[in-house]
Amino acid sequence: MSRSPIPPIDPGTLAFDIDGVVADTMLVFVRLAHEKYGLTNLSKQDMLCYNLYDCLGLEKKVIDDLILLTLDEEHTKGIPPVPGAPEVLTELSAAAPLRFITARTGAVSIAQWMFSILPDVPRSKITVIASGSPESKLGILHQLGVRYFVEDRMETCIHLKEAGIEPLVFEQPWNRADPAPGFIRVRDWVQLKECLLPLGANLG
Ligand SMILES: [Mg+2]
Repeated sequence: MSRSPIPPIDPGTLAFDIDGVVADTMLVFVRLAHEKYGLTNLSKQDMLCYNLYDCLGLEKKVIDDLILLTLDEEHTKGIPPVPGAPEVLTELSAAAPLRFITARTGAVSIAQWMFSILPDVPRSKITVIASGSPESKLGILHQLGVRYFVEDRMETCIHLKEAGIEPLVFEQPWNRADPAPGFIRVRDWVQLKECLLPLGANLG
């Protein structure tokens, strides 16, 4: 897979997607698939495309049900954070406000979740915006003056790049196989932290 080097990034020019970047949302999907449907062989590694209808070999109504459950208020509360995200975001908040743009239709429950995983960050430094669709992220990012956006959905990354916002593709099973050249890929939060100035320079 071709990788573009990650440039040093001013934290003030950065914003984040939530599901698949900060929130390990698909782990909830997998757990529910195990518990409710007995699909104990299913793992996140089976999610080789973003559109789960195309890669899991499950009935549409099962996937629909699992997605609805995963994103509902009760299960949103229990989403595990992606490893390293709370620590790096907490450090980052000292340098810049944290801005999150999700394609979810409502911001309330995922904003509460964000506050819960970032207990040491003042809420005034956390902005969560629900765009309602992946396509609507672009206009919001432009309005906010965002230059870099951390995102796991390749289609959104392509859309943003065409419009002049540099996506940092956060690696997940569903975007790993995508050969799109010229995209900056981020392996995990440790690597993401390394390219953030001044954090990378000061913190081990
Ligand atoms: Mg996402």
